[in-house]
Amino acid sequence: MTYAYPRASEQGLKIKTLLATYASAGGQQAAVLLHSQEAGARLLGDLGRAARLDSAAQGVPARVLPMALWHTASTGLELWLSAVAHGASQVWVLMTDEEAPEYRAAVRAQMDVAQAILSGLGYQGEHFRLLYAKDARDLAALDADLQAAPAQGVAQAAGFAVQADKRATLELALDHLVAQAAVQPDVIALPATGSPLGALAINKDTCTLCLSCVNACPVSALQDNPQAPQLKFIEKNCVQCSLCVKTCPEKALSLVPQLSLTAQRKEAVVLNEMQPYACVRCGKPFGTLKTIESMLGKLASHSMFQGAALERLKMCGDCRVIDIYSADNELKITDIRQT
Ligand code: SF4
Ligand code: SF4
Repeated sequence: MTYAYPRASEQGLKIKTLLATYASAGGQQAAVLLHSQEAGARLLGDLGRAARLDSAAQGVPARVLPMALWHTASTGLELWLSAVAHGASQVWVLMTDEEAPEYRAAVRAQMDVAQAILSGLGYQGEHFRLLYAKDARDLAALDADLQAAPAQGVAQAAGFAVQADKRATLELALDHLVAQAAVQPDVIALPATGSPLGALAINKDTCTLCLSCVNACPVSALQDNPQAPQLKFIEKNCVQCSLCVKTCPEKALSLVPQLSLTAQRKEAVVLNEMQPYACVRCGKPFGTLKTIESMLGKLASHSMFQGAALERLKMCGDCRVIDIYSADNELKITDIRQT
């Protein structure tokens, strides 16, 4: 889901221009303060007036760049990380009682993921903070929050433009942040809630390679191999939606929220594979050894699958039909009609 207006690319351009203008005027360690255009803007105005009248209040520091939004939950981690890539030291979101508490929880969860990425890359300090002020009675606390120390940003601001597609923006931001990072571990573990990045763990003992999960995946992160019984996975594509986990009839899959920094993240890796089962009549592979053997084991004692009938389960669909119609002692549907 994405906002049609204002478009993500316009929001991104606004933040990028804000940061570039601030930097070209000699500004440093900018903190972007995203707030609503109604209650949020009113609170910041109240804070400014309080700072003029009351010597105890400090007001909005010069390094804080306020930006009004139609809704404070309309931006997410791809835009915040882009802001840091474009030169921001921090991104803060000011929420009030204007927004339902569920939005605060969702924004906080996204911030935890974004912070885990930057901390994992060695950027020091707290980059993302949710500021909550119900009304003017919370001005003192808001005033104190705005005086927080800056966090470590990138040495060189990125030049990329925020894209209409969130995922494309996220990848561009990550590429720049990784390139400028002090440390580059193979994997950064991310919080269990709200991560749009991650891998899958598979229980190979229970997976039957039915490939239901491939059909469930909306972004082609899971793929089959038309040439062999294989389940393949591209971590870069996975949005951790958990549709595959819920679809798997064997409960063989689980999410692993993480950011992998290895080249393998962008490649299709084999999650599970099995030996193909060849038709005992024509030799064509038509299933996996594991599923056919399991089916034979379960049906071997069934009265309907004795002798030739059990043997037919080892044949591909075509050979099964040929075998039925070429057997002399087989009861055919045409025989039933005649009697
Ligand atoms: S992980 Fe589950 S859904 Fe996917 S192929 Fe294996 S058994 Fe089927
Ligand atoms: S979690 Fe979602 S995106 Fe990732 S592999 Fe499963 S279905 Fe695909």
